[in-house]
Amino acid sequence: MNLPDYTLEPEQVPLQEEPARSSAERDALKAEIKSLLAEKNAVLVAHYYVDPDIQDLAAESGGFVSDSLEMARFGRDHEADTLIVAGVRFMGETAKILSPEKTVLMPTLKAECSLDLGCPPDQFKAFCDEHSDRTVVVYANTSVQVKAMSDWVVTSSCALDIVNHLKDRGEKILWAPDKHLGHYIQTNTDADMLLWQGACVVHEEFKAKALLDLKKVYPDAGVLVHPESPAAVVAIADRVGSTSAIIKAAAELPNDTFIVGTDRGIFHQLRRQNPNKRFIEAPTAGDGATCRSCAHCPWMAMNALENMASTLLSGDNEIFVDPAIGERAMLPLERMLAFQTG
Ligand code: SF4
Repeated sequence: MNLPDYTLEPEQVPLQEEPARSSAERDALKAEIKSLLAEKNAVLVAHYYVDPDIQDLAAESGGFVSDSLEMARFGRDHEADTLIVAGVRFMGETAKILSPEKTVLMPTLKAECSLDLGCPPDQFKAFCDEHSDRTVVVYANTSVQVKAMSDWVVTSSCALDIVNHLKDRGEKILWAPDKHLGHYIQTNTDADMLLWQGACVVHEEFKAKALLDLKKVYPDAGVLVHPESPAAVVAIADRVGSTSAIIKAAAELPNDTFIVGTDRGIFHQLRRQNPNKRFIEAPTAGDGATCRSCAHCPWMAMNALENMASTLLSGDNEIFVDPAIGERAMLPLERMLAFQTG
C-alpha cells in the first residue's frame, strides 16, 4: 500500500481570530467562569497552547495546565463531576474515554488537529490490516476510532521510552500519524517502524535555514524544538522534547536566551517561570514558507473565555464517545499511563 501524504492543504486550515476585549471584560469573564466552575462542580483542564488567560484561569481555579499526557491523567484522577477541556477534540475524547462517568465539555467542538484529520479511521484500518504483523502505536493526536485500533497510545513525553521498550521485545511497529515525530523516534531508537504520513500544520512550518540565520543573530541562544518539527529543524536543537520537556529545559539550561520551535502558546509558561530569560519564536518564514499557522495552532486558538463561559452556562459542547469504542480505546491509553508510572 502506497501511503499518500496526509499533510493538510492551506484551505483546510481555519483562519485565526483574536478576541477583542478590554481588560475589564476579561476580568468579568474570568470571574463568571470561576463561579460557574464552582456551581457545576467542574474543573478546567487546559493545554499549554491555549490562550494565556485560560491557562491562568485553570491555575487559579484549582484546575490544571499541562501537556496532553498529564491533562489525561489529571482529568481521570480528579473528583469533579464535569471536566471542561480547553484544547482540541482528541483531548476531550481522551478525557471521556478515561472517565466515562464524567461529563466532558469543551469550549468548542470545532477545535480539530491536523494529525487527527489526516488519519481517517477507514484508511487507517486498511493500513493496519495490510501490516497485521506489526504492533500498532498511535500518537494521542488521533480520533477515538483510531485509538481503538491500536495496541499502544503514546504522547511526545513517553513515545521514545515506549518504542524502546517494544523494540527490546523484538516488536515491529506501525506508527501513526505524525511522520516527523515518527522519524525522530525511529532515528533515536533504531526500531523497525512503518510510518503514516501525517503532519502538524504548526510544527511543519518551522524552517531550518531561517533558524540557522536567526542563530547567527543570537549565537548564545539555546534552541528548544518539539519533535513534530521537520528533521532539519530538530537537527539544530540543543534540546528536543514535548512541551513539558521544553519548559523543563528552559529552566535547566544556563542560556539567557532561547529560540523555541513549538506553538507560541507555550511562551506564557516559559516567561512566567523564567522572568529573567528571553524567548524568541523559531522562524516560520523563509524558503518554502506558506505560514498557514504562524507558530500558533488555529484550532487551539478557538478556545476563548467567551465560549468557555457560554458552554458552562448551557452545558452544550459535550463530548460523547460510543461506549464500546471507548472501552477498546481505553486499553492502549491505560497501557500508556501504567507504563509511565510503572
Ligand atoms: S499544534 Fe499541531 S499537533 Fe497540536 S493540536 Fe494543533 S495541529 Fe494538532
